[in-house]
Amino acid sequence: MVDARQFAYLQALGVDVYVPRSAPPLPAELVVAAAPTPPPVVVARSVEVAPHPDNAANLDWDELRAAVAACHLCDLHARRTQTVFGVGNRQARWMFIGEAPGAEEDRQGEPFVGRAGQLLTSMIRALGLRREDVFIANVLKCRPPDNRDPKPSETASCRRYLERQVALVNPTLVIAVGRIAAQNLLATETPIAKLRGKVHSFGAQAWPVVVTYHPAYLLRSPGEKRKSWQDLLHARQLFGRLEQESASGGRA
Ligand code: SF4
Repeated sequence: MVDARQFAYLQALGVDVYVPRSAPPLPAELVVAAAPTPPPVVVARSVEVAPHPDNAANLDWDELRAAVAACHLCDLHARRTQTVFGVGNRQARWMFIGEAPGAEEDRQGEPFVGRAGQLLTSMIRALGLRREDVFIANVLKCRPPDNRDPKPSETASCRRYLERQVALVNPTLVIAVGRIAAQNLLATETPIAKLRGKVHSFGAQAWPVVVTYHPAYLLRSPGEKRKSWQDLLHARQLFGRLEQESASGGRA
């Protein structure tokens, strides 16, 4: 058995001293206080932060989709099942823009489904294209309740997303599908009958726009399908001309 002084000495020399279990407790001055237990390390959970909608003009496709999915900029977010971002070929030469999701679109998360969607697909086929060749989006990404018309404040809030989508697709031609889409895209209250058959423009790069009837309207008024066919012929002719101009360096 060593006494306290010897113990300290032997420790200083690095000599191990074995103290039997039954040994009396060491003197207080030799008890080395246990190192304080470090506080637990709190590892912050990584939180996915959606890009801020004010920066929509700089977003890439994935960021834009995330910003739309998280958007609370207008009251429509409160009742949506999901946002309806848009669908199709991101390098499409044709872009179709409708008004807003309906009940089925809200359920499925895709624009232009159901009977009106089938008719739009037929219109796209009439242009010699497949639905997957074009990009389809709406002015609004969330469903207005009871399919009411969008409010100006809602379309103003949502416009940043549409403008970015059009910029990312950079289509040769935009087809505005229906009165609401046309009037919102073109910032006008001119009736659709007066907007058809002309070439308009939209957005920072003045993408060419033509206007036609909404397929839901055509289902209610089948007599107007002939006019919609005229619109498609007009669009196809214009598209050919624009592509030619682009090939010869006329339009980027
Ligand atoms: S409609 Fe557009 S602006 Fe309104 S909450 Fe949906 S994504 Fe946001």
